[in-house]
Amino acid sequence: MIQSKYAIKTNKVEKSAIDRVDWDNLPFGKVFSDHMLVMDYENGEWSSPEIVPFEDMKLHPATSAIHYGQSIFEGLKAYRTNTGEIAIFRHDMNAKRFKESCQRMCMAELPEGLFEYCVEQIVDMDRDWIPQKEGYSLYIRPFMFATDDFIGIKPSDKYRFMIFTCPVGAYYSEPLNVKIEEKYTRAAEGGVGRAKTAGNYAASLYPAKLGKDKGFHQLVWTDAKTHKFIEESGTMNIMFVIDGKLITPSEDTDTILPGITKRSVIELAKDWGMPVEERKVEVEEIIKAAKDGTLTEVFGAGTAATIAQIKMIGYREEQFDLPPVGERKFSNKVYHYLDAIKFGTEEDKYGWVKKI
Ligand SMILES: *Cc1c(COP(=O)(O)O)cnc(C)c1O
Repeated sequence: MIQSKYAIKTNKVEKSAIDRVDWDNLPFGKVFSDHMLVMDYENGEWSSPEIVPFEDMKLHPATSAIHYGQSIFEGLKAYRTNTGEIAIFRHDMNAKRFKESCQRMCMAELPEGLFEYCVEQIVDMDRDWIPQKEGYSLYIRPFMFATDDFIGIKPSDKYRFMIFTCPVGAYYSEPLNVKIEEKYTRAAEGGVGRAKTAGNYAASLYPAKLGKDKGFHQLVWTDAKTHKFIEESGTMNIMFVIDGKLITPSEDTDTILPGITKRSVIELAKDWGMPVEERKVEVEEIIKAAKDGTLTEVFGAGTAATIAQIKMIGYREEQFDLPPVGERKFSNKVYHYLDAIKFGTEEDKYGWVKKI
């Protein structure tokens, strides 16, 4: 099934660490599977991918990524279906987005087919790390960074691409309180907001901390120029249901990360006959709809939680409580439907999962 165009070298662990995992207590992103995949770019070409035991690595102190931030990543998941097979969700989309991040950050491009192949190989190697337990999955973290050992500022000539994986339990996101942010900015036009690049997350930590101090789980980012238009929520795309219509900020800009979860939600909504509007979304419009009761659902969309319900929006000095999560027909239905596709209890009629 897996293409064999690329030779892969494998060095298996002597003894798996799987017996030491406490499956009833799996904090997100802190437990790592046995192996990782490593591939270096040098002299204008990619080496063969290698799968090696998960371990620390040595880096030169002048490693370019550490100083100047040429560093990008992806996040996706693999699931064990009800029949015991392993299913990866839409990794072709991650491959495409990764390539676009490479381009924007002036990094060596990774061919989409090679990205997909590497993801499939590392998941296959550690497939036993996905237990047949409700809601469990394998979080997959592909990433790439500049490895020149030179402290001049220029695009690096050398890069390292890696993937490691983390078994994760069901991710129940508590309904969130969010604050519409009007001072700090995640991304500006002409900047790198559309790329999944490390610095975007570093830049968001301080404003997010100020929000947390005031009791908000996350910030809703607005446009850098006017702060009148909504962009994203924390590290998720944000979606609204107003008057039965699904509304979300258009990703036709360089300030919004084109999310795969959001895209899937939109495709389902259209298929179910729900009107969808991808366009600029004004803060004022959302506040007005919250006041007059036409705003019935607000949620974040992203790989980790799939759907993260938002229960309250803070705007300036006011707080707007939103309808109870249990009454949100559309987002609850989407959440269960996407889960059913991933875990194989619903037919994959869109061709979104790849079984390996
Ligand atoms: C990764 C990410 C998302 C969600 O993308 P998915 O592909 O759905 O996981 C949204 N916004 C930001 C800023 C992100 O980094």
